[in-house]
Amino acid sequence: GGNVADLVADAARQWPDSLALIDSGTGITLTWGAVDAAVNAEARRLLDAGLTAGDRVAVRLPTSTAFAVTLFGVLRAGGVAVPLSPQAPAAELIPLLEHCSPRLLVSAEPHADDLPEGVRGLEPPDVRGEPGERVEPAGAGEDIAVISYTSGTTGPPRGVMLSHRALLANVEQLSAIEPPVLEHADRAFVAIPLFHVYGLGPGLLQSTAVGATVVLAQRFDARQALADCVTYQVTSIAGVPAMYAEFAALPPEELAAGLATVRRLTSGAAPLHPKVLAAVREATGIDVYEGYGLTEAAPVVTTTLVTGYPKPGSVGRPLPGVELRLVDSDGGAGPVPLDPDDLADSFDEEDGGTGLVSLRGANLFSGYWPDGDHGPDDEGWFRTGDVGYLDNEGDLHLVDRANDLIIVNGFNVYPNEVEQVIDELPEVEESAVVGVLDERSGEAVKAVVVPVSGASLSEQQVIDQCTGRLATYKVPTTVEFAETLPHSPTGKLRRMRLR
Ligand code: ATP
Repeated sequence: GGNVADLVADAARQWPDSLALIDSGTGITLTWGAVDAAVNAEARRLLDAGLTAGDRVAVRLPTSTAFAVTLFGVLRAGGVAVPLSPQAPAAELIPLLEHCSPRLLVSAEPHADDLPEGVRGLEPPDVRGEPGERVEPAGAGEDIAVISYTSGTTGPPRGVMLSHRALLANVEQLSAIEPPVLEHADRAFVAIPLFHVYGLGPGLLQSTAVGATVVLAQRFDARQALADCVTYQVTSIAGVPAMYAEFAALPPEELAAGLATVRRLTSGAAPLHPKVLAAVREATGIDVYEGYGLTEAAPVVTTTLVTGYPKPGSVGRPLPGVELRLVDSDGGAGPVPLDPDDLADSFDEEDGGTGLVSLRGANLFSGYWPDGDHGPDDEGWFRTGDVGYLDNEGDLHLVDRANDLIIVNGFNVYPNEVEQVIDELPEVEESAVVGVLDERSGEAVKAVVVPVSGASLSEQQVIDQCTGRLATYKVPTTVEFAETLPHSPTGKLRRMRLR
């Protein structure tokens, strides 16, 4: 097993003068040769600052060349990178630092916060620095490369330990898709945060592995993104549904002009609404390929790129090398092997065929920091918290998260299903459904609805929309209107916060 930072050394050897990283904000551009030199200088700087093998280094930087250079520098020096949101306020940052006890924190404001004892703050690296003496990569294989904190949509953030082996395995699994997801000539636009493993893996590492050019944007603004795509002749975008929804809301001619050089769009992290997929396709002729991943899988599990055609509502099939089974969500029967043919027979609209998504593959994590608890079982299987079913072609559909399940009088209600029905109302911008305590039924269904600006919508209209389209127990008993809903940096609804 190698070291993740070897990807940079290999790219620099094969394509030293190819454009590697572009900061769309500052206009900084680096070739792969320059990235490798900067990574070397960064590894040296961290070692000089006292880093020893296995030490954590918190990386609190925006999506930028500085982030990429720091990350690879930490890995080459044998450290464990802990990417943290540069936007997180001290109240969120300090508990995470206490949790992972890093030796160093690389941040634009290393001294702004009252750092926990033993943590030393460092400024971001100079990405045009002199390479200095070559640092031999330390750490590989089962050594932990990254601790990635989950977005905390269902509970307190957990530190997912990802080894060099797991991160490199996901790069290989994605690379095994035909035709290739990304090639050397590609220019990938990454506006998803690099501190999240979606930006880090399929965004940065995947591009590095083929020596593609990565265009980095600190935040997403639809019009600015289109301008960047034109300026830098972007060919591929890794995005989240919220980005595509913003694209879809633009005039079709404007979107088509902005994406003129783009040949591939991918979406992940949250459900992509079929309406959005259709609108983007109609305006541009480009398909959005949806994938499913989670931090614990470093992160990609399935994508419609495996079959080569997008399928509205489906997240596609497992990557080559990833095994997927649906298991009994009650924890009763053991894993059920997923033979698409068997599943087609057992699938029934109401309940049959759905199960907890369980995974096995070299891309899986090594348990949660610090003790490695709750990792894959003895046979290598890991149970996610996601409930799904396979359709009669063997493509995965996610129903919802087991934790979000609302139980009304003993009947299961998945919020997603109710939200989709509410979202069909033209007056609705977005909706969220949660369970609230109810004396009679245990839990009751409550909808929080964001109306389209300027639209008028009543509680009764929302209830009428659900009545008839859903079983009675799934129809919300209360409806509340709101101006916005809480989202994570990758656009996921934060149900915990909403509750
Ligand atoms: P926490 O575990 O703290 O709540 P999190 O689960 O949001 O955080 P991530 O690893 O960021 O942590 O998110 C992974 C989850 O995102 C998956 O388990 C799944 O529920 C959801 N997800 C990812 N891709 C999709 C998709 N295409 N459609 C629907 N849900 C998705």
